[in-house]
Amino acid sequence: MNTPKRYLITAALPYANGLKHIGHLAGAYLPADIYVRYLKAQKRDVVFVCGSDEHGTAIPIQATKEGTTAQAIIDKYHPIIEQNFKDLGIQFDIYHRTSDPLHHETASAFFKDLESRGDLETKTTEQYFDEQANTFLADRYIKGTCPNCAHTEAYGDQCEKCGKSLSPEELINPVSTLSGNAPIKKETTHWYLPLNRHEDFLRKWLLEQHASDWRPAVIGQCKSWIEGGLQPRAVTRDLDWGVKVPVAGGDGKVLYVWFDAPIGYISATKQWALNNDKDWKPYWNDPETKLVHFIGKDNIVFHCIIFPVMLKLHGNILPENVPANEFMNLEGDKMSTSRGWSIEMDDYINKWIKKENGGESLADCLRFYVNSIAPESKDSEFTWKGFQDAVNGELVSIFANYVNRTWVLMHKLTKGKVPKIHTEFLDEDDRALLVSVTETKEKVTALLEQYKFREAQFEVVNLARLGNQYMQKKEPWILAKNLDTDPTAQAKIDNCMHGCLQLTANLAILINPFLPFTAKKMCHLMKVVDRMLEWENAGKFDLLKVGYSLRPPELLFRKIEDEEIAAELAELKANAEAKKNKMETTNTSSAAANTDQTNELGIAPLKPEIVFDDFGKIDLRVGTIVEAKKVEKTDKLLELLVDLGFEKRTILSGIAMHFNPEDIVGKQVTIVANLAPRKMRGIESKGMILMAEDAQGKLYFVSPSEAIASGSTIA
Ligand SMILES: [Zn+2]
Repeated sequence: MNTPKRYLITAALPYANGLKHIGHLAGAYLPADIYVRYLKAQKRDVVFVCGSDEHGTAIPIQATKEGTTAQAIIDKYHPIIEQNFKDLGIQFDIYHRTSDPLHHETASAFFKDLESRGDLETKTTEQYFDEQANTFLADRYIKGTCPNCAHTEAYGDQCEKCGKSLSPEELINPVSTLSGNAPIKKETTHWYLPLNRHEDFLRKWLLEQHASDWRPAVIGQCKSWIEGGLQPRAVTRDLDWGVKVPVAGGDGKVLYVWFDAPIGYISATKQWALNNDKDWKPYWNDPETKLVHFIGKDNIVFHCIIFPVMLKLHGNILPENVPANEFMNLEGDKMSTSRGWSIEMDDYINKWIKKENGGESLADCLRFYVNSIAPESKDSEFTWKGFQDAVNGELVSIFANYVNRTWVLMHKLTKGKVPKIHTEFLDEDDRALLVSVTETKEKVTALLEQYKFREAQFEVVNLARLGNQYMQKKEPWILAKNLDTDPTAQAKIDNCMHGCLQLTANLAILINPFLPFTAKKMCHLMKVVDRMLEWENAGKFDLLKVGYSLRPPELLFRKIEDEEIAAELAELKANAEAKKNKMETTNTSSAAANTDQTNELGIAPLKPEIVFDDFGKIDLRVGTIVEAKKVEKTDKLLELLVDLGFEKRTILSGIAMHFNPEDIVGKQVTIVANLAPRKMRGIESKGMILMAEDAQGKLYFVSPSEAIASGSTIA
C-alpha cells in the first residue's frame, strides 16, 4: 500500500439551524476524528476540515419560528456547535462557515467556471409560487403528502418520515408553508447540472473502480441512483438567502444549498491555508492527495454522485473513499430533535462533562460507547443501559482497572519506579505479552486504514484484557509474600511490573485516536510528553526508562450509576411527551391561529393548558441578590447568593452573557424556591431565578414594582 503524500479529510457540514445530536456525532464526526488522530499520530500531512452549512430554506424558516433573522440563527448556532465538537474532543483543523465572504467568493467562482464552459444548462419550467407571499416555493417552503408513505407533512425536498428525497412536483396536495395557501404554477428559469452527461464516468469510477474498496451500502445506493436514470439537477433556487447566482439572469436567485455546501470544504481549506501560511491548492488538485469524506447515509448521493461530477468538471481530485455510516437510533426509535427523542451533544456536555471535575473522561465515555456501536454496516441503537454497561463493564473494569492495578502494585512493590528487567528470568508469558502488543498494533492499524473503527477499538481494549490476564497469572502480590524465602522473587516481580508498565504506555498510544482525553491523562500518570503517543512508538517495550519514578495512581474513569441512567431515561420520555403535547396543541385550529400570530410577532407559542393544582405546587418568592460572581471556566453561569428572608441560598443562573455580576447585587428577583437542588460545576444550586426573554433573546429580571421584604410570596 502506497502512503499518500497528503490527506484532506472532511466531515459533513452540520446545518446551523439547531443543536446537533449524538446520532450526528456517530454518523460523521467521531469516525472522522478517530481517523485523523490516527493519521496525525503517523505524522502524515493531513488537514481536517468542517464548518457550518448556513444556507438553504430551513434557516430562514427556523428564523421565522424563533421570531428572528436568518443571520441571527446562524450566529446563534454556529459557535455552540463548534464548541460542542471541541468539548467532545473532535479536533478540526478548521471549523469554517458558509456565510463567510471567502466561501461566497469560492462558490461563486466555482459556479461561474462551470457555467462559462457550458457544463451547466438552463431550463425554464413552471414551479410552485405563493401569490400572497409573492415568492417561489423551494424545498422547505412547500409541504404536502408524501407519494411514498402518505405522510402529510412531507417537504418539497424530502419526506422526513420515510427519508425519500422529493421534488415539489411529487407532493400530493401541496401547500405553501408561508401562507398555508395552495400554490399556483409560474414560469422561472434555472441552471441545471446535467448528471445524465456523466453516466459513463460515474459507472466506471463508482461501479468498477470502487466496487470492492468502498462500503457495499454506499456502492449499492450509488448503483440504484445510476440505474434509476440520472437527470439534470437544478443547482439554483428562487430565494434571497444563500450565495447569489453570479451570472446574467441570476437576479433574485441563489445557488442551491447542496451545490454550495460541499464547496464549503474547499473554502474551509483555503481559510486554513491562510491561517497557517500554507498553499491550499495541492490538497484539492494534486492526485497524490487522498480525499476522504465522512458522512451519514442521507448524504451519499451528494458526496458520491453530484459533488464528484462538480469536482471532475472543475478539475479537482475525486474522493478516494466515502465511508458513510448508517443511522444510530435511540432506545428503540429513530432519533429526532423535533420529536424530543434525541440526546443533543450540548445536553450531554452540560449534564455530564461540565458538571464534575475531570469531566473530560465522560467525553471519552461517550466516544467509547458511540464508537463501540458505530453504525458502520447497519443501523445501530444507543441505549442508556448499553452506555452504562460499556463504561462499567469495559472501560472501568477492564481498561482502567488494568492501569490502576499496575500503578498501585508498582508503588507497593517497586517503589513507584520503573523496575529493571532481569533477562535470565524472562519466560514464555513475558515474551507472549510483547508479541500481543505487536500483533494488536498491526491489527488496529489495518482496521483503521479500512475505516473499521469499532473493531479497531475492540482490539485495543482486548489488549488491556490480555494485560489483566498476564498480571493475574504472574501474581506479583503473591511473590511479594515470599521475598524472604525465594531469592528470585524480586526479579520476577520486577519483570512483571516492567512488562505491565510498558504495556500501559502502548495502550496509551493505541487508545489515543479513540479516547484522546484518556491518553493524555495516561501520559500525565507516566510523566511523559504527548510525543510519546506517536504511532511508531507502539510495539516498543522501552518507552518508560528504568528507574524513572511515576505519579501516584489516579482512576481513569468512574462508574455510571443506576440512578443516572434512570434519570436520563425519565428525562428523555418527558421531553418526548412535552414535544408531543406541544405539537398537538399547535395542531388544534384555535391554537394554530394563535401560534401563527405569536410567531409573526416573535413571541413564543403558549404551552399546553394546566390546572390550578399544577400551578399551586410552585413556591415563588421574592429574593434579593446579595452576592454575585462568575463561575470559573464557564461562559454562561453566575453564582448568586440570594437572601430569602429566612435564609441565604446559592443559586446558579445561566445569565453571565447578559449581566455583569457587580451590576445586579441588590436587585430583587423572583425565585422558584422549592425546585429540587441541582449540582453544576460542583456547586449546588438551590432554586431558580425567573427571567423574561424578548424576541431578540434579551433577558430581564422579574421584580416587584417596588422594594419589599425578601421572602415575600408570589401567587
Ligand atoms: Zn414519506
